[in-house]
Amino acid sequence: MTKIKIMSVRDEDRQYIDKWATEHQVTVELTTEPLTEENIDTVAGFDGLSLSQQLPLTENMYSKLQQFGIKQIAQRSAGFDTYDLDLANKYQLIVSNVPSYSPSSIAEFAVTQAINMVRNFNDIQQKVIAHDFRWEPSILSQSIRDLKVAVIGTGRIGSVVARIFAEGYQSDVVAYDPFPNEHVAQFVDYKASLEEAVREADIVTLHVPATKYNHYLFDEHIFAQFKKGAIFVNCARGSLVNTKALLSALDKGLIKGAALDTYEFERGLFPSDQRNHALNDDLLQTLIDRQDIILTPHIAFYTEAAVENLIVDALNATLDVLNTGDTALRVN
Ligand code: NAD
Repeated sequence: MTKIKIMSVRDEDRQYIDKWATEHQVTVELTTEPLTEENIDTVAGFDGLSLSQQLPLTENMYSKLQQFGIKQIAQRSAGFDTYDLDLANKYQLIVSNVPSYSPSSIAEFAVTQAINMVRNFNDIQQKVIAHDFRWEPSILSQSIRDLKVAVIGTGRIGSVVARIFAEGYQSDVVAYDPFPNEHVAQFVDYKASLEEAVREADIVTLHVPATKYNHYLFDEHIFAQFKKGAIFVNCARGSLVNTKALLSALDKGLIKGAALDTYEFERGLFPSDQRNHALNDDLLQTLIDRQDIILTPHIAFYTEAAVENLIVDALNATLDVLNTGDTALRVN
């Protein structure tokens, strides 16, 4: 019987792994540990491998996987920047990802957080905790219907966000994407530049990939173009935003608030339990402490639908490589 090792397994993954293994008549051995130099020998004897790796593999690890006869690594995330694809090619390993596991989950979260910011949720919550139940101008809000939303990047996730705002809330939606989508253009007004898109928007929501071209796409220059009092939402990747420039824009009153689901230095922290450790990250502590920021730990995707799709698509990709020598989800 085919034997697959699946690593970095979380409690919520188990039921979907068991169901898939039964349906496909495959032995799947699971562990909560990520793949490391120390435990790599435990992979020997397996036919296939699925990881949810956050830290890079060393060349020795790629080499050992090849020695064990492993042909592929099925990563359970959309991002695969933890892998060195040149090394994967050198050691004849097919790396696959799960490019689209639930765009709606992330889109719904981005919309929710944008609305929480517009409706002053942080302030209202603090007042309620202090038993201050007054209505007063500091928490007076606006109807989302009356606002203009700029969606930056209208791919899988951004297009759903644009549709929710345009068709659900009846907001005026503009967008910027170097590759406009003709279906999205039916309910969104594409602008010619990022600057133009953010200039009149009350909400700016970011949905572009983290590439070397997009590093610090949102910097001091772009924040200076924002409409005064706008809300900024980043449910994409931390490296797209210069956090210090964002804080400076908030301090200068250029922006009213930000909802951040990602942070440029989150690796090793999101997700993890740091309650009994010193945080040693002043920038992150500042984001946590501020009333005008809602920070969440890269959790936009975290729904039952997404968890199931990540498991099923990764294990299917593993089996595809074992049965056919390739998978449609390969990234190298
Ligand atoms: P996608 O590839 O489907 O779409 C990205 C779009 O961005 C494309 O249309 C592309 O043309 C456009 N784009 C690229 N560079 C741009 C730029 N400089 N300006 C404007 N548009 C640009 O990607 P997706 O699946 O929609 O993912 C969007 C983001 O969401 C990614 O950063 C991804 O890593 C992130 N994500 C976050 C979570 C979470 O839980 N927070 C989960 C999954 C994905």
